[in-house]
Formats: sequence, structure tokens, C-alpha cells
Amino acid sequence: MTTKVGFIGLGAMGAPLAKNLQAKGFELNVFDIDVEKVEMLVSRGTRRADSVAAAAKDADVVITMLPATAHVEAVVFGSKGILANIDQGAVLMDMSTIDAKATDKVAAACAASEIGFVDSPVGRLVLHAERGESLFMVGANDTEFEKVLPLLEAMGNAIHRCGPPGAGSRMKVINNFMLLSIAEIVAESLALGTKLGLSPEIMRDVTGATTAANGQFHTLMVNKVLKGDIEPGFTIDLAFKDMSLAINAAAEQRMGLPVGAAALAVYGAARASKYAGKDYSSLLCYACDLAGVAVPSL
Ligand code: NAD
Repeated sequence: MTTKVGFIGLGAMGAPLAKNLQAKGFELNVFDIDVEKVEMLVSRGTRRADSVAAAAKDADVVITMLPATAHVEAVVFGSKGILANIDQGAVLMDMSTIDAKATDKVAAACAASEIGFVDSPVGRLVLHAERGESLFMVGANDTEFEKVLPLLEAMGNAIHRCGPPGAGSRMKVINNFMLLSIAEIVAESLALGTKLGLSPEIMRDVTGATTAANGQFHTLMVNKVLKGDIEPGFTIDLAFKDMSLAINAAAEQRMGLPVGAAALAVYGAARASKYAGKDYSSLLCYACDLAGVAVPSL
């Protein structure tokens, strides 16, 4: 029997994930508050849901791929939300990057209503999602993991089970804290190197062949900002949200993250610039603007 999937949130990351599910034969019922995004999926043959409730009803698995904690809480807990409409025995899989304590709250509410819950935040870039090469950080119990596994296999090629519900959200915060901090160092390095007269080619070749090698330069920036493309992708606004999740989690543990806190300050300032809604690789443009040097291109 075909698995029926309600898919809520068809943005930069949600849309390619949903397209992969549809391409692999899952029956999709999609919803987004942005009608144009729904139309794009419907034109490819998915069913249109007119509300969160309609997407949740009669689904075996309901997927949410929303910007931040507040959006997920509103969609899950609202009187016309998922919990009020999902079938008993169905599974809610939240793939958004949110505060792990909110994930725990959603997981507990699902358990109380006999609804399965999985958190499965997504790793890698939109370009990977479009190719069906996403990575998933999964928090799940055995029964629910078995139910969502075919969907994850249809959307990506790397599935990491991190622990029980909530563990995926925790892993995602750590992953993004690390990569977003590195992205800022790459932006500063390239701005300085450009000012010192080094070409982007030589900086790419040398740092790609030493322990300076990292995906922020050699996978992200070479494909985005260094090609003159700063359309998202993953926005500076969302990057600031993820850095804040890490800094807040650390504060709760009575930990300082001194280098990360400095990187957060840059994301915070970049959010007030014209790059807020642009791809986070535009950190390089922001660093170059501050340094008064042209953005290099490959
Ligand atoms: P996005 O802003 O492009 O898309 C979010 C979508 O949610 C939008 O289409 C918006 O209209 C919709 N939405 C908002 N509120 C809604 C509601 N109440 N009901 C229905 N739809 C609603 O964001 P994105 O880049 O797709 O990111 C989604 C999540 O995935 C975020 O948590 C982000 O941190 C995470 N993520 C993004 C990437 C990436 O590269 N873009 C990578 C990994 C993880």
C-alpha cells in the first residue's frame, strides 16, 4: 500500500525533498502558506491541501519543514494544527532545524496522543537535496524509525540515527554551529587574501590541499558566491537562527562559546545588511564590503 504523506513547508529545502518523495512514488498532499510554492508542486502532480489540517488528515506520515521553532509550534499545536487533525497511529516527522527543547515538547505531546514522532533535521545544501543526496540526523524510537526509513531513503543518501526523539535536533545544532563558524573564518580569510593580492584560484588550490580544507570553501562557496550566485540556498537569517540555537544551548549548560559568539555577532550584523535574505555564502560579500575590496570570483 502506498504511504500517504502530508508535507507542510515547501521552501528552499522542503520543495526539493517533496519532489524526491513524489518522484519515488509516494502519495503527497502538500501545504504552504505561500500559494505559489504549492502551485509549483501541484503542477508536478501532487495533491493540494488547503490547510495544515487538510495535509495532516488521512496521512500515514506528516512532514514539517518550516523555518524556526515558533512556526513548528504554531503548526503542531494550533487548534487547526497537526495534533488536532492527525490520525492516531500516524507519525509526525519534523525536519526543521529548531530548539531541541521544543522538539522534546512536540515529542511528549505526540506520545500523549498516541502519535509517533521523529525529528530528522537535514544536513548538506539545497544542491544536494535537489539530487536526492541529503543527509538526515534522526531522533526516533525503533517502530517510528522503521516507518519513516523508506521516506528518508527516497529523499537522501545518508541516514544517521542519533538516538531517541530529540537527538536529531541536538546533533543538528552542533553540526550547524561548527559549519557556520567555519564559514565566517573562510569569508574573513578570502577577504584578507584578496586584499593581499592572492587569486581565488590559488587560495582554493592551496587550502584544498592542506588541513585548512573545508566544505564551506570547497563545496559551498565555489558553487555559490564565488560563481556570483548569492540567491538562497540557506539564508543569513536562518544561519543566525541556528547560531543562536547553539549559543543559547551553551548558555543553558553554563558554557561559553567564545569563538562562536564572535561569529554569531557577525551573522547578527550581516542580518541588518542587504544580505539578510541572501545565501549564507554571501558572508564573503559582507566581509569584502567591510574590507573595501571587490568580491573575488572563480
Ligand atoms: P524557507 O524559508 O525557504 O522555507 C520555509 C517555508 O515554510 C516557506 O515556504 C514558508 O512559506 C513556509 N511556512 C512558514 N510558515 C508556515 C506555516 N505556518 N504553514 C505552512 N508553511 C509555512 O526555509 P528553508 O531554507 O526551506 O528551511 C526550512 C528549515 O530547514 C529551516 O529550519 C532551516 O534551518 C532548515 N534547513 C535549511 C537548509 C537550506 O539549505 N535551505 C539546509 C538544512 C536545513
